[in-house]
Amino acid sequence: MTQLVPVLSAHWDEKDSFTIEAYTRHGGYKASQKALAIDPDAVIQLVKDSGLRGRGGAGFPTGMKWGFIPQGDNKDHYLVVNADESEPGTCKDMPLLMANPHVLIEGCIIACHAIRAKHAFIYIRGEVTHVVRRMNQAIEDAYKAGHLGNGVELVLHVGAGAYICGEETALLDSLEGFRGQPRLRPPFPAIAGLYARPTVVNNVESISAVPAIIANGAEWYQSMGTEKSKGTTLYSLSGHVNNPGQFEAPLGITLREILELSGGIRTGHTLKFWTPGGSSTPIFTQEHLDTPLDYEGVSAAGSMLGTKALQIFDETTCVVRAVLRWTEFYKHESCGKCTPCREGTWWLVQILRDLEAGKGTEADLAKLLDLCDNILGRSFCALGDGATSPITSSIKYFRDEYIAHITHGGCPFDPVASTLFVGAGA
Ligand code: SF4
Repeated sequence: MTQLVPVLSAHWDEKDSFTIEAYTRHGGYKASQKALAIDPDAVIQLVKDSGLRGRGGAGFPTGMKWGFIPQGDNKDHYLVVNADESEPGTCKDMPLLMANPHVLIEGCIIACHAIRAKHAFIYIRGEVTHVVRRMNQAIEDAYKAGHLGNGVELVLHVGAGAYICGEETALLDSLEGFRGQPRLRPPFPAIAGLYARPTVVNNVESISAVPAIIANGAEWYQSMGTEKSKGTTLYSLSGHVNNPGQFEAPLGITLREILELSGGIRTGHTLKFWTPGGSSTPIFTQEHLDTPLDYEGVSAAGSMLGTKALQIFDETTCVVRAVLRWTEFYKHESCGKCTPCREGTWWLVQILRDLEAGKGTEADLAKLLDLCDNILGRSFCALGDGATSPITSSIKYFRDEYIAHITHGGCPFDPVASTLFVGAGA
């Protein structure tokens, strides 16, 4: 059985884990010294060899992304860290930054050296003022200690709370002071990113994984995980479980194993459906309990690993209501740039509201699927595609429940029964 392996989360249970003293006590900032003594291209190669893949959702190889930055072009290069964590159910980057902000700062120093950048920006969502305060303190301490300011300047930029700014090109627009909307690609950020300069945009967890890779070597990282999904990662467990929280394990662990190691589904209840990677990934059911939670395993089973946000719903949950709630979110967060998403998500909500209230018909299910077909692959960015995932997958697995709303004339579930249980150890 795969076990939990805390690497990023190794010292989170220490009271002062977020301080520079604790970080250096555990060997912090030694990896950046080591990396700065190595040729930048060798650092990129090391990260490539480790097999690290982007932890923000897409799973693109991090070292390869760094390698796309042109060299000898006499232009400024930028590193941008995406800390705009907003996908429903996703809650790994903020706990990481609260518990160990210095690992991200050290990762930024190493990444800047590798891509030959002198400036790094962390774009963080505006609602998390406690995390902003902690990051500001950590950055100040890193400057005082001389880790920053001697070749790398680091700026924390606070966003205004739009989900679309988690999309990397919308994030860049927002960082430049414009309204956050996705950009047409090409050109890709590696060629024309922030201020039209070569830019790497990486997720918090991806950059935070780098110091341990430099310190322990690519082979050590390669030794964990599965054939194509290497290393450990943070799985966020939430919903109807006894112990919600972050569980770090090698990629490829299964939900069954995570539940066994974490205390299981809330007592007296059974698993009904779950998301493997946030609400924009197609839902799974009981039959997927043994699916390896790596990029290939989840994809082969018909979903996406995404942000590894494992939202668990037991048998008391109305799937139609859950899907309606998620769809309302996507409709609200649609940036309005393209018609399939802007108009489509609005219509999806109207139809789902009718169905949930028992005013729908079977023809509405066909209409929903037809609308999804016109959004998926026809939208300007992944938000539109993601909005269709919960709908199409829930109709695939729970068509009977949609029909039950129609025949019952409303929701057959008791709304009180599915109230989220707050377990110990949250
Ligand atoms: Fe904006 Fe939605 Fe189109 Fe993305 S898919 S550009 S969020 S309207």
